[in-house]
This record gives sequence, structure tokens and C-alpha cells, in this order.
Amino acid sequence: MKNKHERNEIGWNFDNSYTRLPKSFYSNLNPTPVSSPRLVIINDQLATSLGLSGEGLKGEEGAGIFAGNEIPEGAAPLAQAYAGHQFGHFTMLGDGRAILLGEQITPKGERLDIQLKGSGRTPYSRGGDGRASLGPMLREYIISEAMHGLGIPTTRSLAVVTTGEDVIRETNLPGAVLTRVAASHIRVGTFQYAAKLGTVEDLQALADYTIDRHYPEVESHENKYLSFLKAVIKRQAALIAKWQLVGFIHGVMNTDNMTISGETIDYGPCAFMNTYDPATVFSSIDTQGRYAYGNQPQIGGWNLARFAEALLPILHSDEDESLKLAQNAISAYPDLFRSEWLTGMRAKLGLFNEEEEDKQLVEELLTLMERYKVDYTNTLVALTFDKVEDTVLKGKEAFDKWYQQWQERLGRQTESKEQSVELMKNSNPAVIPRNHRVEEALEAAVSCGDYSVMERLVGVLSNPYAHSAEQVEYAKVPEDRDEGYRTFCGT
Ligand code: AMP
Ligand code: MG
Repeated sequence: MKNKHERNEIGWNFDNSYTRLPKSFYSNLNPTPVSSPRLVIINDQLATSLGLSGEGLKGEEGAGIFAGNEIPEGAAPLAQAYAGHQFGHFTMLGDGRAILLGEQITPKGERLDIQLKGSGRTPYSRGGDGRASLGPMLREYIISEAMHGLGIPTTRSLAVVTTGEDVIRETNLPGAVLTRVAASHIRVGTFQYAAKLGTVEDLQALADYTIDRHYPEVESHENKYLSFLKAVIKRQAALIAKWQLVGFIHGVMNTDNMTISGETIDYGPCAFMNTYDPATVFSSIDTQGRYAYGNQPQIGGWNLARFAEALLPILHSDEDESLKLAQNAISAYPDLFRSEWLTGMRAKLGLFNEEEEDKQLVEELLTLMERYKVDYTNTLVALTFDKVEDTVLKGKEAFDKWYQQWQERLGRQTESKEQSVELMKNSNPAVIPRNHRVEEALEAAVSCGDYSVMERLVGVLSNPYAHSAEQVEYAKVPEDRDEGYRTFCGT
């Protein structure tokens, strides 16, 4: 083992502000070492932006750190406590298989959580083994980096190591640890946990901490906790609108999987929709379709109502008044969401200004997509490049009429055709992580130790608005359109 000084040539610059919260919010503990860590993928660009570099990040030394066998200088490892509504049912949870090493202060002065996922049991593991298997960790790496490429706020993936140990699921699978980077891991469920603990002081401490970290602008407001609630609602409305705009289905929108920072978190059974259909569900455990594509906006509102509930004790000294303030704040969510979404859809159709009938124009297009079972992403790309003849919509009377209306609408703005096309290119991704491509990359990596397929895929997904020749192949939809595709969580 190297001494501390040498180890820190990598550039670790930790602060551990979370440890300054009341003790009930976390448990200090180190990751459980693994037998033979091996680094299989590292995100160089992300490492650089974190201020991390050098040989120490790679090879055996990097593997030791990212497996949790070696604790970087300045880290104060802990598991966070939280609660959550899972499929509507309240449960006490916590990091059952994750350890926060600390907050890396980047060269730009950002504060980012560095967390190991799959790093062993914690006091919150319940019946779990605290471990993760390679496939799902690589899957999180691919999808989270794709989301980042799409311009959607998200946790990121810094590295994956294999542990040299099997994890026992339905079969024995290779174990792995993912290093996750996040604005923070504070969730709606963290506030539910604080509310459940029952002391107003704890709840207030968490709220003050979170405001300082993510919403400093509300600090000076007369009722800063109400402003905080409103700001979180706004950020989540914007986030979920972005998901809808690209056809992302989170799959497990439990309140413990909703961040306060407004980043997408917890890439378990998530997947992207191919054929436009609001009822699309991929998750094998979501038998009721609670978290179907078309339900996400409404579930976001439900989760935020749970957040507002948790804040009730600090919104106002009078209970009735608190409830009124919370209800008022929550009632703004549907409009906030719709407005974010409509703004995004306008851009996808090349529209710069606003007209009353835009919503109808957008909805008619979606209705046609659903009726003729066309691919959501590729239809919008076809409209971008004026290649509707590539789609089955061409020649359908209702579509041709819609197309005419859209052309007329485009003509009623001052921006040129070229400007519209430019806006559409920047708003309609050429590629999304298609399920069959993700599976192909995982298969090569997990079964054959070949990471080149995944690296190519991650590369193509890193700039989905490039509309490059290389991306054409990755935009293709499989013959069966993934109709029977199933995803699994917690594996
Ligand atoms: P998730 O469905 O990934 O949001 O996980 C829900 C809860 O289960 C979280 O508290 C996780 O930390 C915990 N969990 C998931 N998998 C495991 C595991 N293998 N061992 C221990 N805890 C786990
Ligand atoms: Mg989770």
C-alpha cells in the first residue's frame, strides 16, 4: 500500500459535509474489501472534470480504490439513512449496498458525491448481500452517460471494477462495484426519513443543509422552506419533462429514487421507448404499470406530494396553514410540467414562438405515432431532415393533413427554415440507448470480457445530437421493436 501522500497524487480533494448532519442520518463504515479487484472501465473525461488524473487512477491502484479496498485520503466513508414509498408503500431503507466516500471538490469548485455501489453490507442492508453484479453496473454506466449526453441532469458513472467474487442471484454472477458521482444523494426519501424520526430539529437540519447545497438562492427568502419546496417541484417538473421528451422510462420511481437536486438517479429497470405508446413498461416487477411512460408525470407529482408532507412541520408553525401552503405549492406542478414539456416539444418541431394551438398540434402528432405504431425517436429525426417518406406515416391522410398544418405553422414564425432545422437537430437525438444495443454491449463485456462494444456504444451516445454517419447504424430499430423486452432491478 502506498503512503497517503503518494496516493493523493491522483487529486482527491474531499470534504465530508454530510458527517456534520445529525448522527441519525448516516452510519460511519468502510466498504467491505473484495478479493481481486480489476478495473474494467473508467470515464476519463469525467475523472478530469473531477480533478482526478494520473496512473494511480488506473491499473491495480485504481482498482483498489474503486473496489473500496483502499480508502482515498480525506474520505470519511458512510452509508446514508433514508426511507421511501416503494410502489406506494412506505418503508425505512438506506444505502443497503452503497458507501459514500465523501464529496469531491472539483477544480471548478463544485461539490460532488463520490459513492461506491455494490461495496458490501451496511446497517441498512436488510436481507440483501450488499453486492451488485457486473451486468447491471455496466448498464447503469451506459444509460447514465447516455442521459448526460442527452443533456438531462443525472448522476454519472466514473468507474466499474469487478470484484473477483460471485454474487448469488438466480444464478452465480460476477460481482462488481460502480463508482457513482452525484450532485448529492439526498432524496425525497431522506426527508421522509427525517420526518419519520420525528424531531423538527433533525428535519430542519436536513432542510438547511440541502438548501445550502442545492438551493442557496432561497436562503434569504421570508419562508425559505416554502421556497425550497417550490424550487424542488420546479426542478423535478423540468426533469420529468426531459425524460418524456426523449422517451426515457425510469421504471422504479419510488420516492427513495427521486433526488432533491433534480438529477436522475438509480438506473435499475429503466429503458427507452421505441414505438410511441404511453402504456410502455419494461420493468418485470411493475406488473400494474404504475411507472409506465405515460404515468411518469403524474407519479412525479405524487412523489412531490410526499416530499411536501415531509416538510409540513417546518413550513409554518400553524398546522392548517402548513397544509394550505403545501397544497398550494403542489397544485402548481401539473402546469409547470406541461409548460416545460410543451416548450421542449415546440423545439422538437422547430418552433421558436408560441401559439395557442401548439399543444393540439403536438398531441395530434403523438396520436398518429401511437395509431400507426411508429418509432418515437426516428419519427422526429425524419421530420428534422424532412424525410417523412422514411416513415409509414407518409401517405396516411391524417398525417398528410397534420404535416400541412405543421408547415403552415412553421411559416408563421420569423425564423428561417434553416434555423428551424438547426433547432430540431439540437432537440431530437439521432440515437438513444436502444435496448438491443445495450444488451449486445453487456453480453460482450460480461460473457466475453470484451469491453470494446460498450465503449463504442458509450462513444456514440455521448453526443446524440451530432447526427453523424456513425450513428445511423445505432438508430436502427430491431425487427420485433423490443415488444417483449424486460428489465430487472436491484440485481
Ligand atoms: P433500489 O430498488 O435499487 O432503489 O433499492 C432499494 C433499496 O434496496 C435500497 O435501500 C438499496 O440500497 C437496497 N438494496 C438493493 N439491492 C441490495 C443488495 N443486494 N443488498 C442490500 N441492499 C440492497
Ligand atoms: Mg434506489
